[in-house]
Amino acid sequence: MNCKNHPNRETNVSCSNCGEGLCPECMVYTPVGIKCRECAAPNRGMLRQGKPSQYIGAALAGLAASVIGGFVLSMGFRGSLFVSLIFGLLVGEAVRRGARGNRGPAFMAIAAVTTLIGLLAAGYGFNPMGFVFALIIAGIAAYRLSE
Ligand SMILES: [Zn+2]
Ligand SMILES: [Zn+2]
Repeated sequence: MNCKNHPNRETNVSCSNCGEGLCPECMVYTPVGIKCRECAAPNRGMLRQGKPSQYIGAALAGLAASVIGGFVLSMGFRGSLFVSLIFGLLVGEAVRRGARGNRGPAFMAIAAVTTLIGLLAAGYGFNPMGFVFALIIAGIAAYRLSE
């Protein structure tokens, strides 16, 4: 076997990921074995990508929190900006837990959309003022999921 980058060098070592030969100069030591440079490079795109269970968990948590909260808000706190701020933080926290701590643009979108849907489903936000508060709550919830 020869090194994949240096075809004139003989080697017995191969990348634990792609299986190509590696000379000492091309070996990268990682916690999961020796790899070539390409395979050892951290894949940043993958790290940010959530698992399906995280997306589903985030969406369910956002819906549940905003529906329950929407009912509570409809019972008397309809016009309170302060309560809206607190509520937005709580919904954001719920979505964050549902997402198992994952964050990022996709989870921000989930937080905002599920919060709006949940609030409207609970009957909150059907008047102009209530809708403004619903948007504020959704925005704060989404902000909690930012990186
Ligand atoms: Zn490799
Ligand atoms: Zn090499």
